[in-house]
Amino acid sequence: MAYRHRYLDGSPLDLPVGKIVCIGRNYLDHIRELGNAVPETPILFMKPATALVELADPIVLPTGRGACHHEVELAVLVNQTLRNADAASARQAIAGYGIALDLTLRELQDSLKKKSQPWEVAKAFDGACPLSPFLHPAELPEPQATELALWVNGTPRQQGNTAHMMVGIFDLMAYISSHFTLQPGDVVLTGTPAGVGPLAAGDTLELRLAGHVFTAQVA
Ligand code: ZN
Repeated sequence: MAYRHRYLDGSPLDLPVGKIVCIGRNYLDHIRELGNAVPETPILFMKPATALVELADPIVLPTGRGACHHEVELAVLVNQTLRNADAASARQAIAGYGIALDLTLRELQDSLKKKSQPWEVAKAFDGACPLSPFLHPAELPEPQATELALWVNGTPRQQGNTAHMMVGIFDLMAYISSHFTLQPGDVVLTGTPAGVGPLAAGDTLELRLAGHVFTAQVA
């Protein structure tokens, strides 16, 4: 089924499906687990709209390109144009919050990083961003103090709290908008806590956001 933005109750959002802007290294525990340096400014990258798939649909991993890692992340849906915005305006431009997987071909990414080449082919492939339906902002009154987690086959793999982001959600959106205009229908991924690891065919996933549980299945 083609991806469309919709709320948790199934009602569609009248927004196009836009680009996805992501931040690398936004939780200190995840920076440490990959042995990366703490960035001086946010590391941004993008996934195209073709990366978006419904979280409820079977997740199809790329084949023959090495390990594909899960990165569970809070996702923010934008509903206004943001250009050189401040954090307060960014907060007013949120249609909803969801939970996403920033799927990453880790071995490919590592080899690209070694060659100082861009990451796109490791991060932006078709289906690289399974995304849940969105909670209305009123259903997530404290987005910056919210638990998110990923369980795989009944075992916790990633457990974090958005309070531990190095760059907060609204500051991040403002920073992004100083580089790229955010448009209605764009999605912002806010980084992943520690515990990333490979997915395998047949894995059953539970993505947890503020008491909501979304299940997913790797094909
Ligand atoms: Zn990520």
